[in-house]
Amino acid sequence: MNTKSIKNLKLKVKNCGLFFAFILHFTFYIFNCFFSGCATLPKEPSKPKVYLEVPANEYKPLAKELSVTFIDVGQGDSIFIKTPDGKTILIDAGGTPYWKQSDYDPGEEAVVPFLESQKIKKLDFVIATHADGDHIGGIPAVLKRFSIGLLYENGIVSDQPEYEEMHKVIDSERIVTSVLKQNDSFYIDSSVNFEILSPPRDFYFEGENNNAIAIRLIYGDVSFLFTADIEYESEDNILKIYGDKVRSNILKIGHHGSATSTSEKFLKAVNPEIAVISVGARNNFGHPYSGVLAKLQDADINIYRTDEDGNITVRTDGKKFIIESEKNP
Ligand SMILES: [Zn+2]
Repeated sequence: MNTKSIKNLKLKVKNCGLFFAFILHFTFYIFNCFFSGCATLPKEPSKPKVYLEVPANEYKPLAKELSVTFIDVGQGDSIFIKTPDGKTILIDAGGTPYWKQSDYDPGEEAVVPFLESQKIKKLDFVIATHADGDHIGGIPAVLKRFSIGLLYENGIVSDQPEYEEMHKVIDSERIVTSVLKQNDSFYIDSSVNFEILSPPRDFYFEGENNNAIAIRLIYGDVSFLFTADIEYESEDNILKIYGDKVRSNILKIGHHGSATSTSEKFLKAVNPEIAVISVGARNNFGHPYSGVLAKLQDADINIYRTDEDGNITVRTDGKKFIIESEKNP
């Protein structure tokens, strides 16, 4: 055998080795696929269920409690939060829009009595999400009755009569105000974080609703998303900025369950266990829209509604939460 033949033989042996290595690898891959299912992508870990469906007297909190009450103000929003350190926060106070020409003031007749029943003397923070009458019309009664630490707004000056009335009382009671915008994030007490998801910092949407302040609250493993009256445009903007980070256990459905809010992609990203709809019985707007209810039912989300449940209170130790319905205990 000359030198050239030896070289050729070595090359053949080398190629043969590579071929066998390939066959071995391929066989191992097929074998592996057969037993572990190579066609399925790795599954995203499913969100742990933290909703504890037990009566209130069976719930034993493991740490100091946070409570959130969706106050029944008829057609409107009002949410009262008490943190584990005892900080008190009110988001909106319901209200009757001026054009309804009604004397009913849910601030005076629902929110103030509820806060008094909770022995509240001071509100550390009041948040006026946007200038619509069904959110801020009730705020003046609250400002007159309780001592207020700070009032937050979305920063838009409005010519709506309810806004002007609220600012008259802010001035007369000498209440300090500040503005909340997207990407603000702060601890409202030692263990409760507030993330402000909307309105955007550098522009406003057309119309009041989409400029409303949307807040994500996080206490331990439990999170809430308070969406006020935001609609598709603001939801899309929030998804663009935050993506799946909007995921929350409890979602306050936007704009009383109107057809213009709660897009499928938004709902999918939030992926809540519980939906709360703040809505008046037999309201003129057809809220909540049947299509929104169907979306929630299809996604197997538990629905609570202030028109059917009255005041709805969520209590949590940061690990699990329970829900108390005033009318359906
Ligand atoms: Zn509203």
